[in-house]
Formats: sequence, structure tokens, C-alpha cells
Amino acid sequence: MKDNLITIDGPAGAGKTTVSRELARRLGYTYVDTGALYRGVAWAVRTAGCAGGDDERIGAVCRSVSMYFTDTPRGLRFFVNGEDVSDAIRTQEITMLASALSARAVVRDALLGVQRRLGAEGNAIFEGRDMGTVVFPEARFKFYLDADPEIRVLRRYKELLEKGEDIRLETVRQNMQKRDQDDSSRALAPLKPAPDAVRIDSTAMSLDQVIVVILEHISKRRK
Ligand code: C5P
Repeated sequence: MKDNLITIDGPAGAGKTTVSRELARRLGYTYVDTGALYRGVAWAVRTAGCAGGDDERIGAVCRSVSMYFTDTPRGLRFFVNGEDVSDAIRTQEITMLASALSARAVVRDALLGVQRRLGAEGNAIFEGRDMGTVVFPEARFKFYLDADPEIRVLRRYKELLEKGEDIRLETVRQNMQKRDQDDSSRALAPLKPAPDAVRIDSTAMSLDQVIVVILEHISKRRK
């Protein structure tokens, strides 16, 4: 069991990112947003012009893509093939492409190695869909964060508006429903809680309260 790895899985809009970033800050851990890796692959695939391509072309992009996170004066930024794509990967188009590509074995296999290398040294918080089930089944601290679907839609809608995206609430709702459905029903590494994950419903909680619950759980288990 890895005592210094924390995994946080759950559907979109459940508050994983805010909670993971703040936990990482408080614990002095590295924060890894694995959704960004799937989005980065989607961005690279689209830039290479092979979004509708076969496994061979997509596999070639996955094998050659360079992706890294780096701290900058503008905060933590994400680079793909040398370009800062932190904002470009958040559009609805890339979001839906990332979800579609994430069902393909060629993409999941390529990212499995990347994620395990990033986690090798521990002291890290990994946020995603299959962190506790597939990528780090040996992590000691696993959480599954969920919230009422309509709350998640509203949170995501607000986020996108704040980023300046011109989008309708109904579009966000439909895209999220499709993504929830596709991510949970795919054959490979579907979104689901690990059997040993602590499940937290953040519908009626502030994200600060979620952080407190997680920190209390960790310190209790460590005693
Ligand atoms: O977390 P985020 O919304 O950025 O993830 C984008 C998409 O990447 C998800 O909808 C999912 O299809 C995929 N993903 C995944 N496994 C992960 C993280 C993300 O399949 N560990």
C-alpha cells in the first residue's frame, strides 16, 4: 500500500479540481490533473488532423506527444508539444473529444505509463476517473467525490462563463449527461468508485467542508 498517494475520482463538476488543488497545497503534495492528460491528447490529435482517425494514427500521436505541467508566475500551466494549452483544452469541443478518445485502449494504455511514472515518487494527489480503480489500486487514501447532477451542471456552466466561453446552459447539461453516461459505461476503466474508496457527496457541502472531511479521514487512518 502506498501511504503517500491520494486518489480523487468522480464525475465532472463534483469539485475534484478545487478540492485536489487545495489539499495538495495544504499537504505539500504534487497535484496531477489526469483529465488534462486526456484533454492534451485530444488537443494533439485534433492539431494533427486525425480526430476521426484509426488506432494506428491516434497511437502514433500518443507515442510522440510531449506533455508536462509547470509552475509559472501565472500559476500551474500545462504544455503539449511545447505550447501552453491550459486554456485551449477547456473548450467544449476538446472536452467531448477527450471523452471519446478516452474509451480507446490505445489512448488509455499510453497514458497509464505516463501517470504511473508521475506517481512513482509518491507525495501526490491524482484526480481523475480511474485513479483508485486502475492506475493506483495500491493507494492508501482513495476518495470518490460526487454531487447531484444538476448542481454539477450549474457549477460547470458558471466556470465556463467565467472563462468567457459563449455557451448555453442546456448545451452544458446535454454534454455533461453524455459524458457521465459514456465515462461510466465504457468497457475500459469506467468511472466508478474503488471498493475501498471513501464516498463523499458534495451536493450540500462547501468545498472547504469536503477538504476538512478528507483531511480528518487521512489523519485518523494515519494514527
Ligand atoms: O476530468 P476532466 O473533465 O478534465 O476529464 C476529461 C475527460 O477525460 C473525461 O470526461 C474522461 O472521459 C477522461 N478521463 C478519463 N480518465 C481519467 C481522467 C479523465 O477517462 N483518469
